[in-house]
Amino acid sequence: MTSSFSNLSLAEPLARAVAEMGYENMTPIQAQAIPVVLTGKDVMGAAQTGTGKTAAFSLPLLQRLLKHENSSTSPARHPVRALVLLPTRELADQVAQQIKLYAKYTQLRSAVVFGGMDMKPQTAELKKGVEVLVATPGRLLDHIEAKNAVLNQVEYVVLDEADRMLDIGFLPDLQRILSYLPKTRTTLLFSATFSPEIKRLAGSYLNDPITIEVARPNETASTVEQRFFAVDGDDKRRALRQIVRQRGITQAFVFVNSKLGCARLARSLERDGLKTSALHGDKSQDERLKSLDAFKRGEVELLVCTDVAARGLDIKDVPAVFNFDIPFNAEDYVHRIGRTGRAGASGLAVSFAGGGNDARLVADIEKLIKKKIDIEALEFEDDRPRGRFNDGRRAWREGDDAPREARRESDDGYRERRAPRPSAAPRDPFFDQPYEAAAPADGEASKPAWETASRQATPVRGISANIKTRRKVAALFKAQQPQ
Ligand code: AMP
Repeated sequence: MTSSFSNLSLAEPLARAVAEMGYENMTPIQAQAIPVVLTGKDVMGAAQTGTGKTAAFSLPLLQRLLKHENSSTSPARHPVRALVLLPTRELADQVAQQIKLYAKYTQLRSAVVFGGMDMKPQTAELKKGVEVLVATPGRLLDHIEAKNAVLNQVEYVVLDEADRMLDIGFLPDLQRILSYLPKTRTTLLFSATFSPEIKRLAGSYLNDPITIEVARPNETASTVEQRFFAVDGDDKRRALRQIVRQRGITQAFVFVNSKLGCARLARSLERDGLKTSALHGDKSQDERLKSLDAFKRGEVELLVCTDVAARGLDIKDVPAVFNFDIPFNAEDYVHRIGRTGRAGASGLAVSFAGGGNDARLVADIEKLIKKKIDIEALEFEDDRPRGRFNDGRRAWREGDDAPREARRESDDGYRERRAPRPSAAPRDPFFDQPYEAAAPADGEASKPAWETASRQATPVRGISANIKTRRKVAALFKAQQPQ
């Protein structure tokens, strides 16, 4: 069976949009879900982020809504027919953008509403009428209460990233929203994992759903090289810088467990001269979208983020993910590292396991992903010139001794700090040279360093010499932390 889009009987405007997106073959979730959704049946889909699940539900949904397409200017002719609920603003924005692209040659209207933004423009859009409404639960309820959104003609509802919505505590909001919808409808639920809570939610709101799983739940992509290092405290930052340098990593997500830790780490990495941005729930919506855009444009190297802020973001080709903190919830580990190694590309996931509860958290991850985790020791290389080389030549990293006023926080602070400035003494050219990985084998030359490194039997220069014999998780922590 071939999974080409041309084998689907998609309507011409949708087929044209898909072709324009450059998609040829369906991803596994699309190949399985699209034909089922086209029949109008309920679906319970397990798919990791980056699997193409947005198109898997939106294309068939749009196809079924085409019968309502019309060019009338009357809002009454454009009631909400499909509702897509997502846990975060970024995710809602991203899914809405994709739906707009798929629907661009149809007359179906779509809109997105999420919190943290002025309600007025959203209200104006809703009042004009939209067939597909993408929303986060809290803001949707605000619009329902303000009578801006009427949901009594909804035929399709999609609960995307349902497990995350429950984690955040959206269950009561979801229950309220679902109570406003007609009983006769199609409900599609997508979740990275099928926890007992998700199964309960599906039991209450789905009608005899077809279950679709493209990868076993909780499975991590085989294309991701997963490494765990025993580093703690201040050494984590140093380890991160070292690995970024050694592996020639151009961009990475850096996950932390708290908003406060997120802001602090971003600031200190920024001081280290890395182009960094922070993404967490306390940032304004505008700041969050700006951070994301800068990362997508490649202007930011490290996006330091919390789980909620980063969940499901469609940022392609991230070469690496760092778990600066081991996540409290093992399932978050699967979500975090799902940011790399997407669509068959290889990726690197580095986790720093320190003291405290980390032993237990790593053991939870091990159990969830059903893979043995070895924690490696990381030996630090000298990351700054010492002794006689340090006589006034520390200008090799501008941020370290830049004047205080040049270090102040600002939007383009990075450029300010990195701007060339006169150095006290002539530089030693050795310290101005970027790190160079070992010469790649034939045919590997055009691939990024992290990719070639991950596939070599003997790791590349730098990382290999520094890693000591692998130790088992339990053994390592038993020695460190007698219980
Ligand atoms: P999603 O899992 O829906 O967030 O999709 C991840 C990314 O894959 C998005 O950037 C989509 O544009 C892209 N994508 C979705 N379906 C396909 C496909 N059939 N072929 C290639 N790329 C796709």
